[in-house]
Amino acid sequence: MKYSRLSRAVKPKINPETPDKRVPDKRVLGKPVQEAPDALVRLDAGGAVRGSAKPLFGLDANGLAAVMTEAGEPAWRGRQLAEAIYRQRVAEISQITTLPKPLRAQLESKGWQVGRPEIAQVFRSVDGTERYLVRGLGEGQETVETVWMPEGDDGEAGDGSEMDVEASTAPSTGKDAGWKRATICVSSQVGCAVNCQFCLTAKLGLQRNLTAGEIAGQLVAVFERHAVEVGSARVNLVFMGMGEPFLNYEPFMAAVRLLVEEVGLSPQRMTVSTSGIVPGIEQFALEPPEVRPKLAISLNAPNDKIRNEVMPVNRKWAIEAVMDAVRKVKLRPRERVTFEYVLLGGVTDRVEHAREVARLVRRTGLPAKVNLIAWNPGPGIEYVMPQADAVEAFRTVLGAEGIAAYVRRPRGRDIYAACGQLKGTVEERGPGNRD
Ligand code: SAH
Ligand code: SF4
Repeated sequence: MKYSRLSRAVKPKINPETPDKRVPDKRVLGKPVQEAPDALVRLDAGGAVRGSAKPLFGLDANGLAAVMTEAGEPAWRGRQLAEAIYRQRVAEISQITTLPKPLRAQLESKGWQVGRPEIAQVFRSVDGTERYLVRGLGEGQETVETVWMPEGDDGEAGDGSEMDVEASTAPSTGKDAGWKRATICVSSQVGCAVNCQFCLTAKLGLQRNLTAGEIAGQLVAVFERHAVEVGSARVNLVFMGMGEPFLNYEPFMAAVRLLVEEVGLSPQRMTVSTSGIVPGIEQFALEPPEVRPKLAISLNAPNDKIRNEVMPVNRKWAIEAVMDAVRKVKLRPRERVTFEYVLLGGVTDRVEHAREVARLVRRTGLPAKVNLIAWNPGPGIEYVMPQADAVEAFRTVLGAEGIAAYVRRPRGRDIYAACGQLKGTVEERGPGNRD
């Protein structure tokens, strides 16, 4: 697949810190490693280029009101639009029955469309996980990946919060009723610039940023597919799909605000995961609690030496700088920060690493928990999966050191939907015929 356009550079919203001038060690695990690319100094490289499409989806209350006043209508009709596209999930202007028919026709004749991203392809795993290729209105035919995980992924609800009794006994919700609770994983970019050595998405590089509508729309499209009743359904949202949300900061947060204010989700049911983009975390710390999701940090290594190797971004923002930024986030009562930790066989999965992680997490002084993820293999990535007993030993050591730790069950491995496997998008090849 070809991309007609790469991301547009626009003025950064946040000034990043001066890049680290140290000369990085170019050889990592015997392989040459790229330095953190220039894209890392921009937190917001601009949204998708939309050509002539005029999507309503993605506009906030003010934006929708402006569309109406421009059409010669009272601003309050903007609320009707918001209700229709975000709450009732209407996908065509012609079906917005709260608007007079001539007005619907007028909007369409002006080129407006609902423009919600569509599920273009579905892969279904034996474990019930569904992976979607979701297409927005971008000029190219790019799709991004979104994952639906009924019942979460064990030990935690996919969002880093551990499963509780209520969660496992709650009545079925949703019209397809085969699930009691679910986690939806959404993407924030097509590809990713961060270049973590263990991650398949990294192989794409950054293709482009998603718009707020494209980010929020993934969720609304999946809600529609599973007839999710907002308010009663136990659905968690994790920004853990393709891309680094904090390198597409403004559209990401605009999507969160839409989901909270218009779709009606609680930010406490949302978790954003970052590889440790310090200026992004600092900006995030300033967000008001009504719209701030919970935070997960992809720690993935016990110390800077190993983290420099597996996550080159650490050369720019080392562990201590990340922790300093995280400490600026004012946590809600009972809120904890999640540290994600991918176990790479022989590289990050030793018992001494677990002790180091425990010390590191304790030193932050933060209420925290650790989510352990056994590395999911991918073509062309030369790590090995950890042994099951190494995973268990790691968890045991953390537990003994007083750190809450959960092992995340891999979901949808057979359809390449598990963490770090979201790459099929660009090739548009089925899971069976990947390289
Ligand atoms: N870019 C963000 C969010 C997307 S990645 C981030 O890095 O935090 C979501 C999680 O998947 C991260 O914790 C990442 O460390 C993990 N991950 C990436 N590749 C993986 C792989 N191959 N196996 C297991 N987890 C992986
Ligand atoms: Fe990007 Fe996250 Fe993958 Fe790193 S782990 S390359 S930040 S998607």
